[in-house]
Amino acid sequence: MHSVYEMQSLEALCRDSYRLKLFRNAFFKKALPPEECLEKVPELAGKLNFQSLEILERHDSQRDGATKLVLKCADGARIEAVILRIASGRTSLCISSQVGCAANCAFCATGKLGFIRNLTAAEMLDQVLLAKRLLREEGRILRNVVVMGMGEPLRNEENLFQCLETLRDKRFFNLSDNHLMISTVGIPDAMARFAERFPSIRLALSLHSARQEVREKLMPVAKSKTLEKLKEVFPVLEKTAGFMVEYLMLKGVNDGPEDLAALIDFLHGTKAHINLIQFNAHPGAQFEPVSKEAREEFGKALRKAGFKTTLRYSLGDDIAAACGQLAGKAGI
Ligand code: SF4
Repeated sequence: MHSVYEMQSLEALCRDSYRLKLFRNAFFKKALPPEECLEKVPELAGKLNFQSLEILERHDSQRDGATKLVLKCADGARIEAVILRIASGRTSLCISSQVGCAANCAFCATGKLGFIRNLTAAEMLDQVLLAKRLLREEGRILRNVVVMGMGEPLRNEENLFQCLETLRDKRFFNLSDNHLMISTVGIPDAMARFAERFPSIRLALSLHSARQEVREKLMPVAKSKTLEKLKEVFPVLEKTAGFMVEYLMLKGVNDGPEDLAALIDFLHGTKAHINLIQFNAHPGAQFEPVSKEAREEFGKALRKAGFKTTLRYSLGDDIAAACGQLAGKAGI
């Protein structure tokens, strides 16, 4: 059985390009249920795999506009995707790229699972389709897709690239590049390849410290992917649509004057946009969040040094859907 995301299979099964276009618009753009879409091309029935994920659980935040979806893959693996309904009216979706993650960042619940497997492009795209369907029922349109959920996307490069190509393809989801973003722990050679292939899709580097010894403690990957090596890729990133730096603020770990000075020095000469992220505790977390006032002071100093800086408040904290809290567990 072929995947619904394979254009060649679709074209081979339906030679009538007009009816195929009607199907694609109904299925990918309007996110109508498969049965309804098949009315236009009955010959596709039974010949395509329309969905590889099943919604196991849905958790709606009582505090903000976040919804966490616990999804089951065909092999029983569990992943999570998070819908974010931002107060301004914008709607974003954070998708996973792997089951578990090998990076084992000290502050992250996913890292504790270890690496299980890469998601296929279809499994990544299914997260988008399922979220689009839920939002359509609310009269909302999915605007942004960020690959920042479970897993390190650049360790699943081929499937990630295929997923992004399908999301931006006018025949499929038709999302514009400036509504897409991926986040990475910092794998320089893969970052360079990404920037070359998708120069108008934003790339967020999860930096979290510009001090080598601190970063190594927070992110084991930093031992081989050193700050020095990351810096070598900056000229390539500078040519892209947006180079974001994610900085999770951890009390007593990376929030001191020496941390601030190191960050300013490391990013000197770049146009990096820095996001200061609030830490969300999860069971077993060994860190504490930084106060709002201290984060604001840190942000003020970065702006004074010339960097565009925003303070990001994660949605979905009460449903374990905020940054670093995704662990693929049902029943949270
Ligand atoms: S923060 Fe991202 S890269 Fe690090 S362990 Fe968690 S999911 Fe993996």
